[in-house]
Amino acid sequence: MRQCGQRWRRWALVGIAIGALTGVAKADESAKKRIVCSTTQTADLARQIVGDDMEVHGILGPGVNPHVYQPVPGDSRLVESADLCLQNGLHLEGKNWMETLARDNGNKPLVTCTKGVQPLDLEFEGQTIKDPHAWFDPRNGAIFVNNILDAVIDLDPPGAVRYRARADLYLQQLRALDTWIEKEVSRIPLERRILVTSHDAFNYYAARYHFKVRSPVGWSTGSEIGGGMTPERRRLVVQSIRDFKVPAIFVETSVNPKMIQQIAGEAGVRVGGELYSDAMGAAGSAGETYLGMMRENTLTVVLALSASE
Ligand SMILES: [Zn+2]
Repeated sequence: MRQCGQRWRRWALVGIAIGALTGVAKADESAKKRIVCSTTQTADLARQIVGDDMEVHGILGPGVNPHVYQPVPGDSRLVESADLCLQNGLHLEGKNWMETLARDNGNKPLVTCTKGVQPLDLEFEGQTIKDPHAWFDPRNGAIFVNNILDAVIDLDPPGAVRYRARADLYLQQLRALDTWIEKEVSRIPLERRILVTSHDAFNYYAARYHFKVRSPVGWSTGSEIGGGMTPERRRLVVQSIRDFKVPAIFVETSVNPKMIQQIAGEAGVRVGGELYSDAMGAAGSAGETYLGMMRENTLTVVLALSASE
């Protein structure tokens, strides 16, 4: 009986010890601050800065179109658990869905990564709007990084040294990326630097690296084959492909490729490949990070446009 009691006590102690240990592990996990990001780009940039010091969750998956996204109940729960929310802004998130999520699920602090970007203008249905695809200029990528850095330091001041150090390294990588892209695209003669893509996502890239852009649907990707497509727009795109003797045009990972394939057939040009536009690549793919997406897009464009017929 006495022995039995001792054994019970021993097991009880082991149980308490295990409970205490798992309790500690749980407390550590939940002590990590949580950042919830609308887009794949903002989530990647946040991860580069916080490392393993915070949890970063993205709402949009690879290949998902942010203009027409409609949040699901799981997104509300995720935002409810967040300490900080990040969005692209400039109305990339159609109908401001990230602002709505942040407001309706505990009024969470929301940082807009394009704050301070000099936006380019886009013509859309007779109106001038601000172009949301600012990340395609690496100098704007640096603005995103600095906005995120300020926000995470506010959230966790004791971690500032580590966040600043990571951001410093990443900003150097962005400068190297910019120089590298400039060198790569210099292989395409200026008169052949024309980007024809499914929707108007590449204006910042074009402005930085001296391309002209043409897109049959304009800014909107509202419906299957593009809500913004008109016969007139389509005619203009086919005409400019012929006028400029563009050797190849491109499909995008987050937009239905059908229309671009039809236009390529009509204009007698190749589809030069697939570009990451509003969303980055799947985990494990070359385009799963911002740097990888920019690198792979550049390689695809340079290969298709510098090749002689
Ligand atoms: Zn877009």
